[in-house]
Amino acid sequence: MVTDLGNYLHISPGTDIPRVVNAIVEIPKGRRSKFEVDKETGLFRLDRYLYSSSHYPGDYGFIPQSLAEDNDPLDILVMVNEATFTGCLIEARIVGLFRMRDRGANDFKVLGVPHRDPLFDEFQDLGDVPAHYLREVEHFFLTYKQLEGVAIESLGWGPAAEATAEVRASVDRYREKGQVKD
Ligand SMILES: [Mg+2]
Repeated sequence: MVTDLGNYLHISPGTDIPRVVNAIVEIPKGRRSKFEVDKETGLFRLDRYLYSSSHYPGDYGFIPQSLAEDNDPLDILVMVNEATFTGCLIEARIVGLFRMRDRGANDFKVLGVPHRDPLFDEFQDLGDVPAHYLREVEHFFLTYKQLEGVAIESLGWGPAAEATAEVRASVDRYREKGQVKD
């Protein structure tokens, strides 16, 4: 079966790849409901209410026209001071990479900030991000599937250069493979 991201296929991966990307928000910051794009209809669907009593530490979604190692678009977490909404496009500057494994497979998350927001002007690389925020994000991803019995392993944080390499590889992979196929 051929699956795709429906309405999101035509959206460019970003205005200055690999440093500035388009993030399509699925789950706004502070939410516990896991919304995701339904690959068959292109609509946002409620996948589940997280089993763990925790909430997303930033706006969370994906970079269109990218393909990560898990055969899904590359995941992105955007630090925001105010949650946006499901379906919102954020022009995000990449500052770091959280490397984790979900059931033994790489499932990396790039970390971004709103590119044109002056409150984030000083956020250019991982070292500019408050250390405690990085601990929060790591703790969230290590525990959010715990009550589902899913093992997540942290491989730690990488700097912006590693994150942009991941963006580049994922955009190239998408261009090579075309659409996502099951
Ligand atoms: Mg993923």
